[in-house]
Amino acid sequence: MVAKERYILSLDQGTTSSRAILFNKSGLIIGVKQIQFTQIFPKPGWVEHDPLEIWSTQLEAARGAIEAAQIEPDQIEAVGITNQRETAVLWDRATGKPVHNAIVWQCRRSADICQELRALGLSAMVREKTGLVLDPYFSGTKLMWLFAEYPELRRRAEKGELMFGTVDSWLIYNLTGRHMTDPTNASRTLLFNIREGKWDEELLKVFNIPAAILPEVAPSSSNFGTLRKELLGVAAPVTGCAGDQQAALFGHACYEPGMAKNTYGTGCFTLMNTGSFPVESKHNLLTTVAWDLGKGYTYALEGSVFIAGAVIQWLRDQMGLVADSAESERLAKSVEDSGEVFLVPAFVGMGAPYWDPDARGTVVGITRGTTRAHFVRAALESIAYQSRDLLVAMEKDFGRPISCIKADGGASANNFLMQFQADVLDRSVVLPEVGEITALGAAYLAGLSTGYWENLEEVERNWRRKREYLPEMAAEKRGRLVGSWEKAVKAARSYKPED
Ligand code: ADP
Repeated sequence: MVAKERYILSLDQGTTSSRAILFNKSGLIIGVKQIQFTQIFPKPGWVEHDPLEIWSTQLEAARGAIEAAQIEPDQIEAVGITNQRETAVLWDRATGKPVHNAIVWQCRRSADICQELRALGLSAMVREKTGLVLDPYFSGTKLMWLFAEYPELRRRAEKGELMFGTVDSWLIYNLTGRHMTDPTNASRTLLFNIREGKWDEELLKVFNIPAAILPEVAPSSSNFGTLRKELLGVAAPVTGCAGDQQAALFGHACYEPGMAKNTYGTGCFTLMNTGSFPVESKHNLLTTVAWDLGKGYTYALEGSVFIAGAVIQWLRDQMGLVADSAESERLAKSVEDSGEVFLVPAFVGMGAPYWDPDARGTVVGITRGTTRAHFVRAALESIAYQSRDLLVAMEKDFGRPISCIKADGGASANNFLMQFQADVLDRSVVLPEVGEITALGAAYLAGLSTGYWENLEEVERNWRRKREYLPEMAAEKRGRLVGSWEKAVKAARSYKPED
């Protein structure tokens, strides 16, 4: 009898949908299922998810992927998990039921708590230990909010009756019964010391968070427990776990220091592998754990551009300048350049390296000759310029040039944008063949742990490029364009509506 082929099941629990993807040994997709779930907005700026719906959609997606791939459950070798990061879940140790909705990474409800902590002068200590800034984005102050709002929860947490976890922990708990996480997720909580690789007693004390609620931290590629057989009909091990951005870095095979990935979605998420040392940023970037393969941490620098693909949505939906996002490429290519028009889409302020929440969107250089095509081209170029600013800041912090940029996300389908990115950065931009790079990263972590893939070299051999964009722009032109962009950024930052 011929042995049946085996596969890795990757669970990709995102902000708006739960997805499951089955990969074969070549890293190719053999089955996918995606299910959207409810976004809950109790107040302006607040975002919640129902943890039970996260779990039920994720389980249904896993079943759907197995069905789509037409395989038997016992052909699943192992399970990898990747997830929306920072989202906080609190549940009852005895019943396994959530005691509150999940507070989503986007939720700003703990802004005042962050402000108070900053006023206490804690920013430097927090950055040194966690690599993060005191922002509501991260899980720690979401937990503080819950305990301040519901004293009963604090009492129960102190008695050891509750469990806290980011979404990975919540899934692992439901899949296997164990209370665990990995360092990429732990490093987004504000409670984890990324240098020492453990929950930080001093931070727990300052934030007044009972240690009893925290999950055990295990390497990203290691055994997180065994699936309860009744769920999928197989008792496969869960052996991979990483937050979505780190999983994408891993899926892109950015295994060497100096390799970076940029996801061109609504915003851009940029991560660069900095090797075995955490690099402290002087440019408002975050320092985070990239992964732990059980032999010490690999670290990364991280930054994000708030408005990237969203500027194209804006052109389409609010301005009516393009019918669809693909038209932006045709229009941009129909003109030689942007006609000296620069658009700074600081619609919600500017992120790293600027961190200017008060900056607002600005267009400079408009003349009587400016056309729709120039305007659209300037919008696309702004995505590349903003990413350039971030990547250059990373290079400065790291002290070494970035070797190449691996790209993914919806807007990476835009050839004009990718070529312009390579040109203004003077680095090559590479697109992978498999689009589902985040899920693939989690699958690799899981398969490396069980020996499905022997080592990183084998995984790397799987990595296939779809296309590489080489820089073609003359240095003089690049310098001129970047100089003008920087002036446009200054303009965006100098205008303050309340002045
Ligand atoms: P997210 O995961 O953040 O929702 P996606 O990776 O699905 O985002 O990418 C969607 C974004 O990419 C949208 O903002 C859209 O405007 C942009 N986008 C999609 N296709 C193109 C294109 N061909 N050119 C430019 N932008 C695009």
